[in-house]
Amino acid sequence: MSDTKHTKLLIIGSGPAGYTAGIYGSRAMLDPILIQGMQPGGQLTITTEVENWPSRKEVQGPDLMVEMEEHARAAGTEIIGDHIASVDLSNRPFTAIGESGTTYTADAVIFATGAQARWLGLESEEKFKGFGVSACATCDGFFYRGQEIVVVGGGNSAVEEALFLTKFASKVTLIHRRDELRSEKILQERLFKNPKIEPLWFHEVEEILGSEDPLGVESVSVKHVKTGEITEIPCKGVFIAIGHKPSSELVVDVLETHMGGYVVTKPDSTATSIPGVFAAGDLTDYVYRQAVTSAGMGCMAALEAEKFLSENE
Ligand code: NAP
Repeated sequence: MSDTKHTKLLIIGSGPAGYTAGIYGSRAMLDPILIQGMQPGGQLTITTEVENWPSRKEVQGPDLMVEMEEHARAAGTEIIGDHIASVDLSNRPFTAIGESGTTYTADAVIFATGAQARWLGLESEEKFKGFGVSACATCDGFFYRGQEIVVVGGGNSAVEEALFLTKFASKVTLIHRRDELRSEKILQERLFKNPKIEPLWFHEVEEILGSEDPLGVESVSVKHVKTGEITEIPCKGVFIAIGHKPSSELVVDVLETHMGGYVVTKPDSTATSIPGVFAAGDLTDYVYRQAVTSAGMGCMAALEAEKFLSENE
């Protein structure tokens, strides 16, 4: 049986932006409802050490997210394990339909649905996903004990994944299309010092090769971006860490977006193109994309929602 729940403030998403919006929304007495989505806690639940969350020199990503959830709940946010399938933002109250069958109506909405891993887009990548190809070292690294692995990318995610995978792998080759990493300098220093990691500069993955029965990766064929020379690198695991794309599927047809799907917000604000609808975190941020900046945007969104509601009551 379907049921309907009304709230002054609906928050969709459960990363640092969503939970922080929950804390601030609760303290503004808005009794927010927060819908967690498919991956409660978001991207930090598939990372390991977080070393740049102020006040915590080192904390495990999943632990940090459990603490944020507990904080939001303790502040008064109603946290619901549901996934929103569609939204109607054409009238107030806004409507969101959950896959559970519940309809949520809200006077203001904060979208904080984050971002998801980008893939290379190769047919062979698709074929071996789950059979040697992964975008989550913390989820799948354990399966590659004593094996050779490649990581693709040159940002913080790629370097962190490469470092993490040395716990299991006999060798990690970091394949990057340039000869300069864009990750934090401290991570680069650790990477270059690690004897198990070998960077392979100026290369792109052409194809992932493997066996059919059982399905499994045996090697990657890589191309030198300048000379075009093709080389084959033996490996059992391929970890893709080439960035993220915003999870804006719910709103891409109704809110203004740019830069490949990031929701546009007004300058110095989380307000979107629809009054009463706000966006925070990686869904809208194509520049910083840090846990702490997402949390900051979650705070802004809740404060702006509170102002909007008090002006429109
Ligand atoms: P990113 O910083 O956007 O880096 C993506 C990397 O993948 C770049 O090196 C890029 O190469 C490469 N790349 C992109 N498309 C490619 C393709 N088709 N083929 C081969 N290589 C490709 O993404 P990210 O590492 O996922 O990080 C996303 C955001 O989260 C960043 O803002 C990052 O700082 C943040 N983050 C922070 C932490 C932390 O603070 N500890 C941890 C993880 C992520 P080019 O360099 O040539 O463009």
